[in-house]
Amino acid sequence: MAVRKPGLIALFDVDGTLSAPRKVATPKMLEFMQQLRKVVTVGVVGGSDLSKISEQLGKTVTEDYDYVFSENGLVAYKDGKLIGTQSLKTFLGEEKLKSNFSIIKLIKKIGLNKTFFNNSYRGTFIEFRSGMINVSPIGRNCSQEERDEFEKYDKVHNIRSKMVSVLREKFAHLNLTFSIGGQISFDVFPQGWDKTYCLRYLDEFDEIHFFGDKTYKGGNDHEIYESERTVGHPVQKKQTK
Ligand SMILES: [Mg+2]
Repeated sequence: MAVRKPGLIALFDVDGTLSAPRKVATPKMLEFMQQLRKVVTVGVVGGSDLSKISEQLGKTVTEDYDYVFSENGLVAYKDGKLIGTQSLKTFLGEEKLKSNFSIIKLIKKIGLNKTFFNNSYRGTFIEFRSGMINVSPIGRNCSQEERDEFEKYDKVHNIRSKMVSVLREKFAHLNLTFSIGGQISFDVFPQGWDKTYCLRYLDEFDEIHFFGDKTYKGGNDHEIYESERTVGHPVQKKQTK
């Protein structure tokens, strides 16, 4: 293997960068990455968990790249070995996670109208993931039709943003970020648990080139793209002629 330039790493987002969103990467792309790895250190950083990233980049993903950061680096691999894990439970502690505060009461109070409430609440209002809490006022078990209906309702009545402003005030001391995304829910996670989280494992590199598709404000690559630790490269979908 040729001598790779020390202190330099090329770091890639997964979804929308190495693969189409939520799809498997093409053999051509995977081959290109292995060629690239002969000349520079290569890492990948995705928001999804390792099992999802393995589906997209292959079962041997942790060995195929020098660094693999799933869940933005909350789970970190170097040379095929696990070098770090972090979770909400460890970070906040069990006690802080067990709050007396009832999200369900808040949902009722902010109120979808009575008809909507009675007909459309479907369970799984709160989902604890390792790095975030996902809150859905209508419940994640709803059907696609109900999702679309809720999305429309929310646009008019701002259910999610009303809930977020209450929670932001209530839990101000925990320094949490609230992010409204998708149709029916919002995510809650500690400040700084975006893709910049993985940079703590890359201290030995003074030149970090980051490639991502959602580098604009509000996009999930924005913070790492803007970080002074990285040289950011926006990736665009190739136009098909
Ligand atoms: Mg992406």
